[in-house]
Amino acid sequence: MLKKRFLLVILIPFSLLVSAEEYDNLWQPVRVVEKKWKACCLSDVRLTDGSYFKQMQDLHRNYLLSLDPERLLNNVMRAGGIATSATNYGGWQHNNGNGFGNYMSGCSMMYAATGDETLRDRVAWMIDIIERCQREENLGGWFHFSRSKAFYNQLMAAKGENCTPVNNGEDFYNNSDMAGMVFYQLHRIYYGIRDAYYYAHIDKALDVFLKCMEWACTWTDNISSDASMQMALETEHGGMAELFMDAYALSGEEKFLRAGQRWTHTLNFRDRLCRGENVLMSRHANVYDPKFIGLVRGYELTGDERDSLAARNVWDYVVDWHVLPMGGHGRWERYGQPGRQLDELANTSTETCCTNNMLRFTKAMFSLYGDTRYMDFYERALYNHILASKDPNNTSVGGGFCYFQSLLPGMHRQYMDDSSFYCCWETALENHSKYGEAIYFRNDNDLLVNLFIPSKLTCADNGMRITMTGDYPTDQRVTLTFDAVGSFTGKIYFRVPQWMHGDIVVTHNGSQIAANVSQGLLCVEGPWADGDEVALELPLALRCEPSEEPDVASIFFGPVLLCPNMGASTDDYTGNPWQQSTSLAPREFPNIDGSMSDPSQWLTRRSQRQLTFRGGGYLFQPFYKCNHLTTSIYQRFVAADEVQRARVYIPDRIKISGDTGHDYTGSSTTGVIYNRDYLEVAEGQSVSYTMQLSPEGDVQHYLMLQHDGWQTDLVGYYSVYVDDVLIGESGPCERMQQFTFPHAYYNIPQDITQGKSSVRVTLQQGDRPMRYFDIALVTERYVDEMCPESLWQLHQGFPLRLEAEDAQPHGDNRTFDGTSSAGAYVAAPTTYLLYRDLYIPVAGDYQLEICHRGPRMARYAIIVNGEQQTVILPASSDAWSTTQATLHLEAGFNTIRLTPVTTSNLPDIDYVELSRIGDDTAIRGVATSADGVLPRLTVHTLTDGSGVQCNVSGCERGILRLYNANGAECAMLRYPEFDTFATTQLPEGVYVVCLTSYTGQHLASCKISIR
Ligand SMILES: [Zn+2]
Repeated sequence: MLKKRFLLVILIPFSLLVSAEEYDNLWQPVRVVEKKWKACCLSDVRLTDGSYFKQMQDLHRNYLLSLDPERLLNNVMRAGGIATSATNYGGWQHNNGNGFGNYMSGCSMMYAATGDETLRDRVAWMIDIIERCQREENLGGWFHFSRSKAFYNQLMAAKGENCTPVNNGEDFYNNSDMAGMVFYQLHRIYYGIRDAYYYAHIDKALDVFLKCMEWACTWTDNISSDASMQMALETEHGGMAELFMDAYALSGEEKFLRAGQRWTHTLNFRDRLCRGENVLMSRHANVYDPKFIGLVRGYELTGDERDSLAARNVWDYVVDWHVLPMGGHGRWERYGQPGRQLDELANTSTETCCTNNMLRFTKAMFSLYGDTRYMDFYERALYNHILASKDPNNTSVGGGFCYFQSLLPGMHRQYMDDSSFYCCWETALENHSKYGEAIYFRNDNDLLVNLFIPSKLTCADNGMRITMTGDYPTDQRVTLTFDAVGSFTGKIYFRVPQWMHGDIVVTHNGSQIAANVSQGLLCVEGPWADGDEVALELPLALRCEPSEEPDVASIFFGPVLLCPNMGASTDDYTGNPWQQSTSLAPREFPNIDGSMSDPSQWLTRRSQRQLTFRGGGYLFQPFYKCNHLTTSIYQRFVAADEVQRARVYIPDRIKISGDTGHDYTGSSTTGVIYNRDYLEVAEGQSVSYTMQLSPEGDVQHYLMLQHDGWQTDLVGYYSVYVDDVLIGESGPCERMQQFTFPHAYYNIPQDITQGKSSVRVTLQQGDRPMRYFDIALVTERYVDEMCPESLWQLHQGFPLRLEAEDAQPHGDNRTFDGTSSAGAYVAAPTTYLLYRDLYIPVAGDYQLEICHRGPRMARYAIIVNGEQQTVILPASSDAWSTTQATLHLEAGFNTIRLTPVTTSNLPDIDYVELSRIGDDTAIRGVATSADGVLPRLTVHTLTDGSGVQCNVSGCERGILRLYNANGAECAMLRYPEFDTFATTQLPEGVYVVCLTSYTGQHLASCKISIR
């Protein structure tokens, strides 16, 4: 089989292949899902002089040349017995020394982007050294010397049996067999070796890369159980799944695919994403982000729909709920609460590595799905984060790259210095070498212009040569000229960003033609001749993008985030980003006395040749050029009508750092932690404020509090009084994680506020102290229209996307198509965990509807946060019927379980749905097994072809059945006593393995081909 594949490649003349992304032409034909758009090779694109991108690319090329590859590689040379007097660079390079991987990636990409042979020669020299050490010193796949050779020998003997969760099981696991983050460091080296083959075409690198992956394969095969493997995958391990998938695509060898699938984090990641669950909140971002790329590679190479669904869901989560206006996400390297981007403003906002991964992920997603939304994000993050992460004035050894962006209002950017060389320095080596990677895409016939960066495209396969000129977004005109048409006869598409409103003027050789825009793409048809010119006038304009606060927004011109110059920075910090002060207090957003809906009313462009604007008392310029300035990515709008509008949503708020205007009485202290102001009230103490009610008169009000989230149980921490009436007490709260603080909402009965313009709010502390980060009165309109917690709740209950077949009731639709149980409701005769961490913004009565079918009446207990009530499900043998129960839910996080009291003849349960009484909004719950994990089944054929082995998780015992394509049962096993079907007597074909409970309930199924 393998030989046939190689033969196939040789038989296709190279010139007939559509010129496509570097690796596309190097992969074996194992791909299952075809790309909708293929990015043009970096080596086919040349940036042309005049743009900021070209200026930064030139600067970066000189920087790459200024580094000494021998200093980067000296650890490897020493281990390989090769004499060298070179010394390590500092920082991470001194301790870890894996930066040579990213250096090879960066140089290979820069070689592709510029043709600079010096850079290729360097990579070739490095690969020579690595190959020699791998061969002579038997280094296998480890070129990472913060640990000894003995350590690696021990690593290879590991069986993965010592996984124990630590740190309260948050996200790091102390796993001696996995050895912490060793694969995270190795993956950067493997990337570099792979990229030397992809981008610099160094053939020897392929062999070295596959040997590395074989070594990692051996480690993987040694890990005895999938459960251990899944636990190990909680530890930061970078893009190992992607690398195995690439090794499979490059070699055609299925062992790499199997290893890649074992390195795919399913249990606590993909499976939960398929169910639409939030897996990101408060998690370490760069532990998770590289896994996204593994999913999309998995889908591309196998067509596994679970990979596809999880990848699409997680992209939406990140971009819709976590990304800041400048395209980055997280603070202190962690995801925050969905929709609470303003909480992400810190000294440590938006690690650059995370955006590097998101861009790689996004480009792959666009290629497969073709949705221009992906590329709108790509453009945002490229212009506003990646371009902003390099100091154009810095040519030092450290390169002047950012680790985090300090996004505290009034703060300035901070660059790493010559003693740093952290992870973000490593990814920076790539970031500024591949600006050209997503400008042009092609499919079999057509060309897509995705980014408007001045450049030249040369396509070897059809002889087409194109030049794009213009100064977008400074200038709205973009011109595409055919230097040579070659044999190109297709259409030209241009991406039209979502934010672009107004008419696009299109001319073909000077004559205006119709602008046909469909699904985010403008289409221009030929026929084409040499010298033809297509020009666009793009409607670029000022606009505000809202935040979760009604009077706070960021300002854009086209794709570019504009920020005010708040003065030069006097203390450019260039040290260890982790030692930056967490006690640095936030400053106020700049106050803008102008319109939010139309910033052109107060913001005037200074010159058509530059993107600088004056207005609101500030000079605004692109965020990416605020290199040594104090600035703010958000502005507060204080014009009278904006203030009035904001008060409709948030009538009043306490200034946490010290409030003087609300008739404050009581006892409290203030301080700063993690760049947030807090107000601390000691045990037994209280604070009182007079707060203004909505100008709209008698509307429903809530008290919104943001407070400490460290405690697992906040019951009785504080009581809330409004005009001396007790309206609530702190309720149970799931333990949040570091740097994440929950919001709680307290319903203020309308008879307290009726006819009044203000109320007296008192927080009375119980027997423990509490820190408050926000105290505000909000209205029902805020809860309905703006409140991130209530908007998120809709998503938390509803999976973001359920495929049509998954959305069907599970009962009679147990088709064999579709593997496993993603998104489906499973009936299991145990406890159902219906909702965990369900955030309820408003305390009140809710209705739980249960859809069931069974021959006997059954009694169930509904347990809400530990409190139990009973519901009776009447007999209903023929048809599905529904039964309702009323639950009282507290504001805050709620956990709801359903447990049978009856012990036999239990009904099937199809779905459970929660809705607020008097409200149409339903929150459909996912029924799972007792521990919240859907039973899962994976199957694989044994390498000697003798059988099919089944791996089951989330289910202790059951029946495994093997069916042929006609639905006939071929074999049956009792699990866990047996787990392997003998298949030597079976004809070739497609089979289905089903896992059922002993009572016959379907739990999971999987398709497999037997050859
Ligand atoms: Zn980093």
